[in-house]
Amino acid sequence: AFLRDLTFRVIDTAGLEESFDDSIPGRMRQQTERALAQADMAMLVVDGRTGLTPMDRHFAAWLRRQDMPTIVVVNKCESNAGRLGAPEAHELGLGNPIAISAEHGDGMEEIYQFLRPHIDAHQGAQPEDDTAGEDIEKLFTKYVEGAETGFGDETPVPEDETKPIKIAIVGRPNVGKSTLLNALVGEHRSMTGPEAGITRDAVHVDWTFQGRAMRLVDTAGLRRRARVFDTIEKMAVHDTLRAIRLSHVVIMVIDATTRFENQDLTIAQNVAAEGRAMVICVNKWDLVKDKAAQLDEIQYELQKSLAQVRDIPVVTISAINNQRTDQLLRAVLDVYELWNKRVPTGKLNRWLRHMEEQNPAPLVNGKQNRLRYMTQIKARPPTFALWVARADDYPETHERYLINGLRRDFAIPAVPIRFILKKSKNPYSD
Ligand code: GDP
Repeated sequence: AFLRDLTFRVIDTAGLEESFDDSIPGRMRQQTERALAQADMAMLVVDGRTGLTPMDRHFAAWLRRQDMPTIVVVNKCESNAGRLGAPEAHELGLGNPIAISAEHGDGMEEIYQFLRPHIDAHQGAQPEDDTAGEDIEKLFTKYVEGAETGFGDETPVPEDETKPIKIAIVGRPNVGKSTLLNALVGEHRSMTGPEAGITRDAVHVDWTFQGRAMRLVDTAGLRRRARVFDTIEKMAVHDTLRAIRLSHVVIMVIDATTRFENQDLTIAQNVAAEGRAMVICVNKWDLVKDKAAQLDEIQYELQKSLAQVRDIPVVTISAINNQRTDQLLRAVLDVYELWNKRVPTGKLNRWLRHMEEQNPAPLVNGKQNRLRYMTQIKARPPTFALWVARADDYPETHERYLINGLRRDFAIPAVPIRFILKKSKNPYSD
């Protein structure tokens, strides 16, 4: 979500009131707990028109015990309608409630004021984003127009190879995810969890492959094995998204004997949108007769449907026979490396000059729209910032030209590339 200059992710814990009956509270609580385990802050929304319900009090009591910034938001407060709930909400013991009207957009300023310091503090504490934000602005002011690079070709910090590569297995029902899981887990690999209480990925499997630590993160299949709760269909999409977000690399399993379907495409698009690396695993290859023709067909379908992420590795396996699962893991290692790729700033800006000479951005009112400076602000996935004289008039076609060029010239296929446009702050521009 975006609120003015804030960017954050909202997790909605769905349907508490609809599904809260005698048989489900445990499961609902679990789902809410899982959402909270991923969250840095909580927002408890109550209905101002009806006043507080016992459930509101229950969740407030529970939230008070959690160690996380929490705010109570009293909704439906447009034109005095919420006068019942708003005063009562103080009783929840979670600080000053904010009266809002979600429908009319009232109260957003107060929510902003609450979120702002927390989000700032949180982003300041993110080690992975060490070069993001103000640092970039500072670097940029040091950049001298006309100097060849402005920067040296710094050596990137090597990543910590003792930390496991987190892998998720996703795909439609019956494609063979559990079978693959069993093949990967094998005899020598130990299963960990589930652990009590709130943990980020309570159920996972750790093992080592070619000297690299690997971790299979929480999946519906894993939980089914652990019998934490029975999967219900409604939770499948939520589970897939959750697994994708917990992972670095996603193994997306498709069934060689069925067509590539919309649901496959949706999952793959989610993986790209979340900025994860991906390997396509075509399972049940043992059942395919004309293997060459089938592989062509699948490659064609993928190129057609997933144009934004080119050259995703496709590995055909037979999970049931444990065939080529090592090849699958090698592909995981390959894309993981690409996902961590860093291009030094000096090199990048020499490249940018060249790309601009070859094909400058379109003129704006007869004036050049200079591409001033570019830097990779982070890896995992590779994320680039480009400062343009007139960012508002910079067309997407040109951005695509640069992204395709980056993939080609710095060998970054297969993984998502993020691109951020910045307005040039160079005082000497134009
Ligand atoms: P999930 O729903 O994605 O976890 O799929 P399962 O692992 O439960 O597998 C669904 C069905 O496909 C089961 O009957 C498996 O035995 C079968 N299956 C899984 N992998 C293979 C495979 O490589 N070859 C064949 N022939 N069948 C498989």
